[in-house]
Order: sequence, then C-alpha cells, then structure tokens
Amino acid sequence: MKVTEAEIVISAVSKKQYPNEGIPEIALAGRSNVGKSSFINKLINRKSLARTSSKPGKTQTLNFYKINESFFFVDVPGYGYAKVSKKEREKWGTMMEEYFQSRETLKAVVLITDIRHEPTKDDIQMYDFLKYYELPVMVVATKLDKVPKSKRPKHIKRTKQTLQMETDDVLLPFSSETGEGKDEAWRYIKQYI
Ligand code: GDP
Repeated sequence: MKVTEAEIVISAVSKKQYPNEGIPEIALAGRSNVGKSSFINKLINRKSLARTSSKPGKTQTLNFYKINESFFFVDVPGYGYAKVSKKEREKWGTMMEEYFQSRETLKAVVLITDIRHEPTKDDIQMYDFLKYYELPVMVVATKLDKVPKSKRPKHIKRTKQTLQMETDDVLLPFSSETGEGKDEAWRYIKQYI
C-alpha cells in the first residue's frame, strides 16, 4: 500500500468529536510502550506522525489518522500502566466502551502484543473485550527482531494459546525495526478498507 497522505484529523475525548465522514476505520490497541506508535509509523512510512512513548497521565484521546483520504487508523490509548489512578482507568474504560460498542465504521482491530513476552492479563482482557463486540482482530506480535529465529515458533504459539485466539483471527509476527510483516499487515487491512 502506497501511503501518499496521512494526517491527524482529531484527538477525540468523546463520541461527539468522532469524525462523521463514514469512511472505514481500523483501530489499533495495545499496552503502553508495546510499540503501537512504531507500528503505525512503519506502516505509513512516517518517522513520527503517531507519537511514540506518550507519557502516562496525559489526556487520553482517540487519535484519528486519515490515510489517503480513504480510511482512518484510530489509535486507542495504551493500557496496562501500573501507575495510572483508578479514576483514570475508569475513564479509559468508559471511553473504550463508548467507541467499540457502537462505532459502525469500525471494521477491524489490530491488537499489538510483544512477541518476547507472554500476553498479560490486560492483553487477554482486551482481546476478550474485542471478541465480545464480535470484531475481527489481527494480533500483531511486535519486536520480532528481538527473538532469535529458532525461538520464534515457540513464542508465536504461546501468544496464540494465552489469548485463546479464535481460528478466524490472524497472528502476525512483526518488527518495526526490520519491517518484517509489513506487507502482510497491509494485506490484512486492505480486506476491510
Ligand atoms: P507505544 O507506547 O506502544 O506507542 O510504543 P512505541 O512505539 O513508542 O515503542 C516503545 C519502545 O519500543 C520504543 O523505544 C521503540 O523504539 C521500541 N520498539 C517499538 N517497536 C519495536 C520493534 O519492532 N523492535 C524493537 N527492537 N524495538 C521496538
């Protein structure tokens, strides 16, 4: 996919701010610091359109990136920061529900995990939450460059098993460093846009 245009349209805090152009959306979710911004930037060939390593405690927003005037990547605020207050966590939960429950233009979700580690409780909860809303999910297990080739099959299997992934869902090993998995990621996304 050749990305010629990529721009942030809005950082939304509530439903009434979501764009209403009716074009398809692909949401991206993952633990804070997992490599979500790096994934987005790699796919759209930008160094830093999606902010990397956004600090906890900042206003949590849903960031709508319009790509080639034809669809949105929606960057969902990261989860799993131990230091976040209960109130912040509740706000995050409300925001997620508000978005995932009723967003008709949302076609699929990319859930980013770290291939080096077993998915966390939060990852499992997020996957289950998305499946509850019957959304197609592609799990992108990133930081593949950090795992030696011989160990990759084991790590891939563990991710699938821990998340208890449905057979229709795809697991894609990926690296923002080397670009491995980039073409496959686009192939998946293209089905929905
Ligand atoms: P976010 O908080 O999920 O948006 O995470 P970032 O994209 O900011 O990445 C967090 C850290 O992981 C940064 O230091 C990145 O450079 C690093 N990182 C992200 N993806 C990869 C990857 O595929 N390989 C390696 N080696 N490092 C990565």
